[in-house]
Amino acid sequence: MKWNEFAHWGEKIVAWAADYHATLRQRPVRAQSAPGEIRAQLPPLPPEEPESMEAIMADFERVVMPGMTHWQHPRFFAYFPANAAPPSILAEMLVSTMAAQCMLWQTSPAATEMEQAMVEWLRHALGIEAGFTGVIQDSASSATLSAVLTMRERATGFTGNKVGLSGQGKVRIYCSDQVHSSIDRACWIAGIGQDNLVKLPSSGRFHGLDGEALRAAIAADRAAGFLPAGIIGVTGGTSVGASDNLDEIVNIAEEEGLYTHLDAAWAGAAMICPELRVHLWEGVSGFDSIVFNPHKWLGAQFDCSVQFLKDARAQLDTLRIQPAYLTTSHDNITNFSEWTIPLGRRFRALKLWFLLRAYGLEGLRTRLRNHVQWAHELCERIRATPGLQIVTEPVLSLFSFRCDGDDQKQQALVDAINDDGRIYLTQGTWQDSKVIRFQVGQFDSTWEDVMLAHTVIEEIYARLMSAD
Ligand SMILES: *Cc1c(COP(=O)(O)O)cnc(C)c1O
Repeated sequence: MKWNEFAHWGEKIVAWAADYHATLRQRPVRAQSAPGEIRAQLPPLPPEEPESMEAIMADFERVVMPGMTHWQHPRFFAYFPANAAPPSILAEMLVSTMAAQCMLWQTSPAATEMEQAMVEWLRHALGIEAGFTGVIQDSASSATLSAVLTMRERATGFTGNKVGLSGQGKVRIYCSDQVHSSIDRACWIAGIGQDNLVKLPSSGRFHGLDGEALRAAIAADRAAGFLPAGIIGVTGGTSVGASDNLDEIVNIAEEEGLYTHLDAAWAGAAMICPELRVHLWEGVSGFDSIVFNPHKWLGAQFDCSVQFLKDARAQLDTLRIQPAYLTTSHDNITNFSEWTIPLGRRFRALKLWFLLRAYGLEGLRTRLRNHVQWAHELCERIRATPGLQIVTEPVLSLFSFRCDGDDQKQQALVDAINDDGRIYLTQGTWQDSKVIRFQVGQFDSTWEDVMLAHTVIEEIYARLMSAD
């Protein structure tokens, strides 16, 4: 393809994108293709000769589109949202075009300084105390791994990177049984091991970590000669929105001299609404590290995960490496690749700048508030429906329910709903039983979309019952 054809195809693809969004409701939310169906339509070998863009685009529609699950569909109620608001898509087009590697300040000063400014804007928007700095990572998993490595290095007197972990005391990390699997994997990769990630029971209205159990576990570990290193809290856990008592974790960490990391990957976005912080956010500024994903509920195109740091030095002492080819001659600058695991980095801050300016915080708050309110309203409709029960109450816009019957019945209901295609939702587990999760968070969802979910669930449940 030549550059003089670029504008023509760019226009066509932008028009395709606008049309795609305008007609999303007509498509089944979850792909309806069978395993292997798409692969079978792809030639086994690449073409030797160039092909036309017409042919490539035609095959994109014919081969690829039927195998897509539509995450931007207004009736996507599965997992958590992965929004891509239009201004953030446009910013990503600019970023892809310039394709700069923003690893050092001098490899694109605008990217570094914009990143510092956007972290500061969001710190303020989320009600985190002044003084925190931060960095934009690809995913919460990477931010959590960075924090876990920092816990390990801090606990081993910053010797783990040099001498390795053999011969060191056993590093221990504490969390509730509601944390995301990215915490387990961070402990695997950091050489800490699953057995040294101490998962404690959760309880109460918000399914938070039990403080007494935490104190007892740390004391027992110290007595056994282990090396307590850190505590990982969660606000808005993946299964049912579990949220720890942050103040309590901070107090215990202070008494014990432990490093703290908070996973608010999904729920962090809602903290731009002060009234939604109640019971979820008190004590947040006591944490050393906090991660939240603007690429989920806030509307920024994937990937965009902000990690706030109370004092970046510990993470820098853990991850910074300065080979000769990366040294620069400026003082008092930030080289963000020293804060993270990968060297190469995209200009992720630009889409935040576009997003925050195009909607304003008030525009974003209105969306989030609507989602929370509609989720509560839907929850009441489901509660009032014979044969359906609410299992966990809404935390922000997430709740779970079950229908009468065993776990197989729950899965049958989920599968039948997703085969129908009008809505998409997924299952989870709660206290060893299968539950059906429901969350509202897609940027273009309306009240009608959310209430249609009730119609679909009720109708398909009735059909399953009559088939029995
Ligand atoms: C989505 C999510 C993660 C993982 O986020 P990635 O950015 O995909 O790594 C971790 N924790 C929670 C609570 C999440 O909701």
